Amino acid sequence: MLSEEQLIADYFKPLDNIHGITPASLAIGDDAALLDIPVGKQLVISTDNLVAGVHFPENITAFDLGKRSLAINLSDLAAMGAQAAWFTLNLTMPDSNTQWLADFSKGLAALAKEFKCQLIGGNTSRGPLNIAISVYGLVPHGQAIRRDNAQIGDAIYVTGKLGNAAAGLQCLQQGIDTYPGLIQQFVNPVPRINCGLALSKVASSMLDISDGLDTDLTRLINASNVGAQLYLDKLPLDDALIDYCGLEQALQAALTGGDDYELCFTVPVHNIEILASKAAQIDVGYTCIGKITSGDTIDYMHNNIKIDMHLNKSFQHFN
Ligand code: ADP
Ligand code: MG
Repeated sequence: MLSEEQLIADYFKPLDNIHGITPASLAIGDDAALLDIPVGKQLVISTDNLVAGVHFPENITAFDLGKRSLAINLSDLAAMGAQAAWFTLNLTMPDSNTQWLADFSKGLAALAKEFKCQLIGGNTSRGPLNIAISVYGLVPHGQAIRRDNAQIGDAIYVTGKLGNAAAGLQCLQQGIDTYPGLIQQFVNPVPRINCGLALSKVASSMLDISDGLDTDLTRLINASNVGAQLYLDKLPLDDALIDYCGLEQALQAALTGGDDYELCFTVPVHNIEILASKAAQIDVGYTCIGKITSGDTIDYMHNNIKIDMHLNKSFQHFN
């Protein structure tokens, strides 16, 4: 039987060697970690946990689970326009299965390396599988991109494509293997850290789309005290998604599906040229999908005409 100390030493301590330009003064091994916040920066903190069966299907591999756990947390840093720096891992698991731990920690390490994020501590206990991660990022003082600053007239954009992850989850649950690309979008979301950084001083507001565009854009307009027009005919939909479920369902997936982890952001008209100059950094592409209005709801538009849109509400916890 692996002792808790040995388990941490074997599988998690190596991840405190992975870091970017701001390694912790003290990482795994003491009672707590020590961080130096560089002068002129603000610390950006977010946390999320994943419960087996609720936040991911049981048939996802341990390696993918490791990647996904960190990815969905880093997505929140991306949505603030922050650079990732550190993370902690609070792991509850039913037993110390060494193969599972090896695969899970490799998945975590892969993403930590890609985004230069150092594991600085955590906690390990026994119980039903639950993965709680906190991420710590840095942003130049005063430059975080919040969700409460969209202004009337701003253009609304999203990165990448919408709706794929929800369709991918359905494929995974139903054992459909003809759309591996959709499944990948659910299993391995890529946090849009680089896009978020590119949008510093360009976007007026931003959030990540974890619960579907309709729900998340509503959060953004409510926080900003504005309304929005959403151009349904402009939503970026993958051919594979349309092929999988048809245009009507693809639209529903884009609006209510969830798990996309793309960024939704607003740009003042006078910054649209600057946005174009950042296109290379926003390498997953971005699409203008609407504009901010003086209302307080989302108006659904099709070819510039307001239409009634009946949404199948996305999966929500505790409903
Ligand atoms: P304590 O008993 O003081 O809570 P632990 O024995 O739980 O300390 O942890 C020892 C060290 O290992 C601490 O630095 C802690 O942050 C780290 N640690 C524990 N579990 C994990 C984990 N799952 N991932 C990363 N670091 C961990
Ligand atoms: Mg202690």
